[in-house]
Amino acid sequence: MRVAIVTGASRGIGRAISIELAKMGINLVLNYRKSEDDVKETVEEAKKYGVDILTVKGDVSNYNDAKAIVDEAINKFGRLDILVNNAGITKDTLILRMKEEDFDSVIDVNLKGTFNMIKHASPYIMKSESGRIVNISSVIGLIGNIGQANYAASKSGVIGLTKSVAKELASRGVTVNAVAPGYIDTDMTKVLNDKVKEGIKNLIPLKRVGSVEDVANLVAFLVSEKASYITGQVINVDGGMVM
Ligand code: NDP
Repeated sequence: MRVAIVTGASRGIGRAISIELAKMGINLVLNYRKSEDDVKETVEEAKKYGVDILTVKGDVSNYNDAKAIVDEAINKFGRLDILVNNAGITKDTLILRMKEEDFDSVIDVNLKGTFNMIKHASPYIMKSESGRIVNISSVIGLIGNIGQANYAASKSGVIGLTKSVAKELASRGVTVNAVAPGYIDTDMTKVLNDKVKEGIKNLIPLKRVGSVEDVANLVAFLVSEKASYITGQVINVDGGMVM
């Protein structure tokens, strides 16, 4: 059975991805930072599909924590086939008000965290017969956004990282792609006020907010055998918001 690490698997998109991978019969290593109770709920759901699951607490922005997540995965399962870099944060504010710490922390989790995990996981994924890396970027990394200079920079960075690693690992048959969600209903977007939410909704041709399953379905496809000829791509899941 293949083994996947999903970072930020306690809530939102990470939880939905974990459940979709469990449905595919993939054993799971579920990382989270602090939400112990939430990750237990993910485990309960995923367990229904008969897969083996390990949870690992750790901050992906910390190089040693990232190594420990991979080491624990290898200790338990002895192999690693898939890495989904989903953990992410926002610290939105206008550039004139943005503190150095607001910028650094978002880059550290979203971009450096993705690097940290790829760095430690790649040697094992390269040994898999169908290695897959999927990085969760954002449409904001493509178009920018008011109040999100830090977030947009981190998510653009993820795209450059994805394309470079895709080129480096292609000779080993490992595919590396980025998924760019639009506006998805999770804790991350709950904080937006109704006026902002309505404004975003008006920008979506399909006229609805995305669900976590919309994103998870694409990730499931990208890690499947059917997607073995797709690498280095950025695929939007955004109801047509950016085209
Ligand atoms: P949530 O805020 O709902 O969940 C974030 C998850 O990331 C949680 O599981 C959280 O763990 C984890 N996490 C945060 N920081 C760290 C860290 N340093 N180390 C390990 N885990 C961490 O977010 P979403 O589900 O909405 O977002 C998931 C991804 O999708 C993010 O990368 C986000 O940028 C991206 N995205 C989301 C969009 C949206 O509209 N929601 C749109 C575009 C992209 P814990 O619970 O323990 O804090």
